Amino acid sequence: MAHQKQEVTIDELLEKIKFYIKNEKEQEMIQQAYLFAKEKHEGQFRKSGEAYIAHPLNVAYILTGVYADSESITAALLHDTLEDCDCDESEIEELFGKNVLKLVQGVTKLGRLHFSTENEYLVEYYKKIIVGMSEDVRVIIIKLADRLHNMRTLWALPKEKQKAKAKETLEIFAPLAHHLGIHKIKSELEDLSLRYLKPTVFYDIAEKLNKTKAERDTTVNEMLKEVSDLLTEHHIPHEMKGRAKSIYSIYNKLNHGKKFSDIYDLLALRILVDTEQDCYLALGLIHSKFRPLPKRFKDYIAMPKANMYQSLHTTVFGIDGYLFEIQIRTYQMDEVAENGIASHWAYKEHKDASRSMQNTTEQKLQFFKSIIELSQDKMSSEDFVNSVKDEVLNNNIYTFTPKGDVIELPRGATPLDFAYKVHTRVGETTVGAIVNGSIVPLDYELKDNDIVKINTNKSAHPSKEWLNIVKSTQTRNKIRSYFTKNERDILIERGKDTLNRELRKKKYSIQEFMTEENLKLVFQTFKIDDIDELYFSIGNGKFNPNSVIHTVFKPPEEEKPKIKVLPKIADSNSDIIVAGVDKIKVSLAACCSPVYGDDIVGYITKGNGISIHRSNCHNLARMDDRCIQVNWSDVPASKYESDVVVYTNTTENKLADIIQKTSKLDINISEAKIISRTDTLVYEMSVYVKNTEHLTKLLLELEKAPYITNVERLIK
Ligand code: MN
Repeated sequence: MAHQKQEVTIDELLEKIKFYIKNEKEQEMIQQAYLFAKEKHEGQFRKSGEAYIAHPLNVAYILTGVYADSESITAALLHDTLEDCDCDESEIEELFGKNVLKLVQGVTKLGRLHFSTENEYLVEYYKKIIVGMSEDVRVIIIKLADRLHNMRTLWALPKEKQKAKAKETLEIFAPLAHHLGIHKIKSELEDLSLRYLKPTVFYDIAEKLNKTKAERDTTVNEMLKEVSDLLTEHHIPHEMKGRAKSIYSIYNKLNHGKKFSDIYDLLALRILVDTEQDCYLALGLIHSKFRPLPKRFKDYIAMPKANMYQSLHTTVFGIDGYLFEIQIRTYQMDEVAENGIASHWAYKEHKDASRSMQNTTEQKLQFFKSIIELSQDKMSSEDFVNSVKDEVLNNNIYTFTPKGDVIELPRGATPLDFAYKVHTRVGETTVGAIVNGSIVPLDYELKDNDIVKINTNKSAHPSKEWLNIVKSTQTRNKIRSYFTKNERDILIERGKDTLNRELRKKKYSIQEFMTEENLKLVFQTFKIDDIDELYFSIGNGKFNPNSVIHTVFKPPEEEKPKIKVLPKIADSNSDIIVAGVDKIKVSLAACCSPVYGDDIVGYITKGNGISIHRSNCHNLARMDDRCIQVNWSDVPASKYESDVVVYTNTTENKLADIIQKTSKLDINISEAKIISRTDTLVYEMSVYVKNTEHLTKLLLELEKAPYITNVERLIK
């Protein structure tokens, strides 16, 4: 076996760095770190016989390939000093700063594992990775570079160790790199793992590739030229690359029953252009000259993958009838495709970069975090490992909402998994599903690129049967918790879900929002005492999540008036004026039951006119682009139905008293329901009132009663 020795020197590293790190102090810090590590590792050797310093030096060099920042490069040089040398933390902090120390500690912690069974080991490992990511994702990227260099020098280890390391790499690190979108590192890790796990297969494929290389090269080059001429003729500036398929991806396809000669994307090329528009132009030109293979076209520009990947894919009948897989993308998309989360480094100012990386990571982490929370109480270690494996690190499918939002799900997922992933509340009220336009049963197995529409009914509830249908452990746990939790807990969870979703939608970091200082401001503004109360009040519709967010992060100006303003035309038959629309069916939404005088917003339904919501109704948040401005007319109707919840501190039935208080104000009750809680009773009633003033009188009157703790208008 030929071993590629990569003798990177400190001068080469520094030279590489100067390309993109211009700050001289930062350059100096890196040089310092090298000297420091060299001294600490003095006298230590790797199994390959080299001086130990070669390892951290190479790890740092790998990181320059993704334009890592100076702190990461410094930490990479120091990453083994805490573990293997007599070097203490204060020394590193003093010389290189707190951030670098934290990174080094993170990488070191990731290496220390204590376990007895294989499952326990995986649990430990995943947890550490998750914790590492949530603290600073750079830790994981350094760890990936560390592993890559260890894999490159794996030949120096005994056979048994080689296999074990390769297996671990394939199971944990390659999927992790994939998850973070760092394709470059992922595919090298996979190829190296395969080489040690299945050497015969690896060399067999490599040899076949070699044999056919000359022929393929000629064909690809001819095609390359034809396509390039075509684009030049139409004035589209571009660069072309022939594209080598990784050995591991070929192995995967062979494993799925394909023949070597059938793997047509062996002939592949990539076109890089300046703008998104040019991508589509180029595609159109290529399709007009070369017939595309039906159903092989994918638009990941309009609908990016969850790991941020964007590109156009098509397969065409090229010259001599060979099939060519063609990818078209901009230079920036290419950077993201190769380096994923690390591409923030290449495209942003350095300070911003680690922050936006952390924000992006956090969105992914929501999911990891919920697994961690679950694993602490209910989950067995086996469940834990399976759920991480299935849902995060393995080959997921990408499905879409009708609006084109990507929902990433584990393979085998059903519409219920989809619904719960969109929002717990959507999951809980699911009554049916439509996939690509056809109604499907709830246990239908979703496939890549399915467009899924979930039908909900607000009075529907989860069924225990669902536990047998759903695929994802996370969904199963959400369903389970529905059956074990009381209503308050459910509302708290719903509120938390809603707030986090709104934050993500607005691209704010949850971590940044949840600082002590910010929460204090929110608690003060909304006159509440703790976070559960905040979630609860969002969950039951009392607070609008957006107003909560806006107390901390002021909304950008142009985002504010999302509601279209149109000239007003009165609909003579209605107590509501709908802007710009005459004679259209208008109805009051049942979820928030607006009352004359409330701030209202109209929502254009499909085929059912306009439904009027209170402007703080949480059901609106999801549909803002179909909202229009509406106003109450000067002539109100005689009565409006409104839903009110009355919380008490007693188990004594007070309904008669409540009814009496209500009728005293000339208010009729159309429906009243008593909900029994562990130690109190709660009343839900629908009342008829004239307007908001009338309703407020009722709320105030009821609150006077000593046994009533709180009265709220209900938003379902
Ligand atoms: Mn190392």
